[in-house]
Amino acid sequence: MEIDEEKIWKKNIALIAHDNKKKDLIEWAEYNKGVLAAHNLIATGTTGSLLKQNLGLEVKALQSGPLGGDQQIGAMIAEGKIDFVIFFWDPLEPQPHDPDVKALLRLTVVWNVPVACNRATADFIISSPLMIEGYKRQIPNFEAYYQRSL
Ligand code: PGA
Repeated sequence: MEIDEEKIWKKNIALIAHDNKKKDLIEWAEYNKGVLAAHNLIATGTTGSLLKQNLGLEVKALQSGPLGGDQQIGAMIAEGKIDFVIFFWDPLEPQPHDPDVKALLRLTVVWNVPVACNRATADFIISSPLMIEGYKRQIPNFEAYYQRSL
């Protein structure tokens, strides 16, 4: 699918896949390469390298997930720098950085950032008209939280 870059609101898309899900993510990204190439892609280290090597996509690769990459993406979410997250995490294998995975998923909810944890959800997001029309995500109002008395 070809996209006119002038007409879209470029999104910052974070991509992460656990080892047993990397094949799935690469296949999905290959199928959607035309759309993805029109946006800014950010990924954890190994996922990012695979996307570059296999698909030739331009990707900003952060640290590898277990070495802090998930936390880096979480920090970008808190800074308002991520529009949506494709995170194929593995439900069948324990991860050494499980607390980081949980923290990242939590921050997506805190900041109302869409997150796809499987291919079907990723398909729905990538084929949404909002990909092209643009979407102003509502940023939750944390004023009451900031003003709370301790
Ligand atoms: P990786 O990290 O892309 O460096 O493998 C993914 C993860 O396990 O969070």
